[in-house]
Amino acid sequence: MSEVLYRKWRPRRLDELVGQEAVSQTLRHAVSLNRLAHAYLFCGPRGTGKTSTARILAMAANCRAPQDGEPDNTCGICVSIRQGRALDLIEIDAASNRGIDDIRDLSEKVRFTPSEASYKVYIIDEAHMLTAPAFNALLKTLEEPPAHVIFVLATTEVHRLPLTIISRCQRFDFRRIPQGLMEAKLAQLCRDEDMDASPEALALIARSSGGSLRDAENLLEQAVVSYGSPMTEAHVRDMMGLTGDEVALQLAERVVEANIGGGLALIGEVTGQGSDLGSLHRGVVDMLRGILLLKTGGGTPEGYSDEATARMRELAGSAALDRLVHALKTFSDVDMRRDSYSPLPLELALLESAAAPKAQAMPAESAPPPRAPAPAPAAPRRPPRPAVPESYPGSHRQTRPPERPRQPSEPASPVEPPPQPRPSGGPDDRWDQVVRALRLTGSRFKLGALLKGCKEREFADGVVTLRFPYVSHVERVKEELDNPVTRREVEQTLEKILGSPYRMDVLAAADVGNHKQVRAADRSPMVRAARSKGAQVVDEREEES
Ligand SMILES: [Zn+2]
Repeated sequence: MSEVLYRKWRPRRLDELVGQEAVSQTLRHAVSLNRLAHAYLFCGPRGTGKTSTARILAMAANCRAPQDGEPDNTCGICVSIRQGRALDLIEIDAASNRGIDDIRDLSEKVRFTPSEASYKVYIIDEAHMLTAPAFNALLKTLEEPPAHVIFVLATTEVHRLPLTIISRCQRFDFRRIPQGLMEAKLAQLCRDEDMDASPEALALIARSSGGSLRDAENLLEQAVVSYGSPMTEAHVRDMMGLTGDEVALQLAERVVEANIGGGLALIGEVTGQGSDLGSLHRGVVDMLRGILLLKTGGGTPEGYSDEATARMRELAGSAALDRLVHALKTFSDVDMRRDSYSPLPLELALLESAAAPKAQAMPAESAPPPRAPAPAPAAPRRPPRPAVPESYPGSHRQTRPPERPRQPSEPASPVEPPPQPRPSGGPDDRWDQVVRALRLTGSRFKLGALLKGCKEREFADGVVTLRFPYVSHVERVKEELDNPVTRREVEQTLEKILGSPYRMDVLAAADVGNHKQVRAADRSPMVRAARSKGAQVVDEREEES
């Protein structure tokens, strides 16, 4: 099994795009009629194929022997684009500063004709991150685009693009990939790789990836690398540190029944185990959504066991619709990204969801008496709301809601829950916390899993240097750190847990002797690409600015 599956799995033809039939059909048509636009806008959630589609479009537009609007994948141009060495395909990541500089002088560069292809294709990823001057420069170019240029703007947040830009582009909306299609695709990848994975395992991967095929493929690859064949649902759960449907279902039950005491105890239990509360949060939101679907006859939630579905159906029967809607809203508003180890946001959501739905819009004193929630024997009755919310979100780090009951049966837990991230000891002693906190960070690969493979760490001058025995690990970590969102998340996590700001630097164990050289050279993706083809850095000069 090779370690570059995700690259191998990348679609090579428009009709291989999963779940984006409308997009691929229209583009195929445009290519075969030779009626390409000068600017395209690809919008939609992450991991739904925007950049892949842009690359295939670049191939199809330039292919020497296109068939029905599809690239042949074998001519020189197709191959060079696929290998990422085509001079006429320019990919700009607008989220990095370099991207913005690139746009500024782009208006001059676009005038040059392509060097080998018929079209120069500019892919601007994360286009919404461009600054106002960069947008202006881009707009000027879009107003009078040279005939040999195609722009593809890709964005997850189209509302952040100026209308002047949007109106000059042909827009395509990419949709989240439905569970069923995702499962089918994963099953097909497994067949292609001669790999045995249980349908439950694939369903869980599909469900955990939130409609992003790229995330699903990354999870599948990680699972393949970590566990091999046959792969079970337990493997996947273990890999992702998931708390599991059972716990999410129990919490959903307590939410629906407004059983606050029971719910708080459950959250406390999960926190005490050091499990990732982000996963519990996603689980309970999915579960509530599923129950709502069943309640309204909107369909059957996908990816659950028959038993779980049966219990959801039962809850759907007993819960009032407005309570369910209110609970789902409350829980889906919770943002666990900042600190997925603090139980407070979930605890608050639980309290709030138990409050009567309609009381929300009115001042607390004049609220009508709430409809009695379903009987909840052990639960304290609707606690007054103000006490807790006041401490949130401003001082959200250490505060605990005062009414959180210690269950008598719950021993004073020997393992303190992890949200107090500054015990004694050096940064190395807290490393495990960092690894845990980064468990779900990363787009293609999850850093938590990768960091477990780190052999040695060194903390100095605000840099933590990690050494990995395998170059492939180093490359994956670097690839993730190249993503500014991930990098920011990593740096925030390091600062929070280690107590002062750190940058993360990764090295293969063999590179240790060349530490300096590797570090400087690695800043350039081009140098890295060259190195991966066997090139060596012999000399380095300061960049001229
Ligand atoms: Zn071709």
